[in-house]
Amino acid sequence: MSLAEFEENTALVTGAGSGIGKAAALRLARGGAFVGLLGRTEDELQETLVEIRAVGGDGKVLVADVSNADAMSEAVRLLLEARKGLHIVVVNAGINGTWAPIDDLKPEEFDSTVAVNLRGTYLTLHHTVPHMKRGGGSIIVVSSINGTRTFTTPGATAYSATKAAQLAMVQQLALELGRYGIRINAVCPGAIDTEIDDNTRTRKKRQAEVPVVFPEGDIPLTGGEAGTAAEVADVIAFLASGASRHVTGTPIWVDGGQSLLR
Ligand code: NAD
Repeated sequence: MSLAEFEENTALVTGAGSGIGKAAALRLARGGAFVGLLGRTEDELQETLVEIRAVGGDGKVLVADVSNADAMSEAVRLLLEARKGLHIVVVNAGINGTWAPIDDLKPEEFDSTVAVNLRGTYLTLHHTVPHMKRGGGSIIVVSSINGTRTFTTPGATAYSATKAAQLAMVQQLALELGRYGIRINAVCPGAIDTEIDDNTRTRKKRQAEVPVVFPEGDIPLTGGEAGTAAEVADVIAFLASGASRHVTGTPIWVDGGQSLLR
């Protein structure tokens, strides 16, 4: 892939202040895209913008909670005010939320995971798709191995349900949006070294887990080492680029084989 592959493109990346979203934003910007950096925490987003400018790219900070309809509408409006069109959307913002046995998981904990991961996905698509209908484009939803191939993370019921639902949306919308030249795919990362543990609460893990022992590490490709956000970002860039022009409605697991073992 040439590094000018996204020249003249506008991208929106949610959760662009850390982890996979930040790596994806940097990767797309290095390819020439102007990147809307959306998230809740302004100073993190500003730092991403500084790093993008340091490599000769550009973008715009958009502070919004993905679960807030008005905030998302306004963020997309601001991006489109600065740019003519929208070509790439990376639906990435997400939280692990609370991992607990189903009888212990509180309704408000379930709701908050669904609000960010699933309603946030819906709102991001709801507000961006209208701007892609004329020229087409590529949407990449960051799902997970949890809920798509792996069901062994103790207590992760709410999280897995949102990640499975994201993949259902990707497949449903691949059909709906194909007529507009809009492709939509999912990346499903395994364990990736990011800040997501800061957004994880675990209770009574023992009650929900089925013990499994992996003597050689549970990621075959690395002997147990987690992947990096940049490794996920490269797959996101592939799905955003013309190299995947005939690919839509498809999950790509980015997990070093982890989900096949579990
Ligand atoms: P991270 O915590 O480093 O990044 C998530 C970003 O989303 C943060 O910048 C955070 O501020 C932002 N965010 C969270 N809630 C938000 C909200 N309501 N509105 C706006 N922004 C919000 O975590 P990450 O690992 O980079 O996670 C990114 C995505 O990758 C998530 O959807 C996650 O489910 C998925 N994922 C991560 C892993 C992993 O091992 N790290 C594995 C599978 C899937």
